[in-house]
Amino acid sequence: MSKRILVVEDQEDNRRILRYLLRSADYQVLEEITGEDGVAAAERERPDLILMDIQLPGLDGCEATRRIKGNPALRHIPIIVVTSYALSGDDVRAFEAGCDAYVTKPFDLHQLLAKIQEYLREARTATCGESAGGEIPEDRHDNH
Ligand code: MN
Repeated sequence: MSKRILVVEDQEDNRRILRYLLRSADYQVLEEITGEDGVAAAERERPDLILMDIQLPGLDGCEATRRIKGNPALRHIPIIVVTSYALSGDDVRAFEAGCDAYVTKPFDLHQLLAKIQEYLREARTATCGESAGGEIPEDRHDNH
């Protein structure tokens, strides 16, 4: 069964980009618009990974991350925080709130997908005890 990713994002354009990207990579996409609904969906749906915007109406992405990571039943779910403002100090706030990784908008889709795959592998390793290495073929040619 394909992995389920919860996207918490208030901008329709960004949701459309992420929906297209994630579906094309064979993930199931759940979407919420507010931080409150994002926390509720995490509790209800137990997704495999969460992409969390920082700037949300009401409860912001940092506080939503803090609530999810404060719940022992949910804290294993990787949260990748997304922000438009690279120099705002959001990265510090996001890591203090307990997020696992941090990316900036506009999205570098290749990089974002690689990060998602990295954290899904780590989550699976943590829950199933599988070896993290070896199953994904690496580039065969040299990268300079
Ligand atoms: Mn936003």
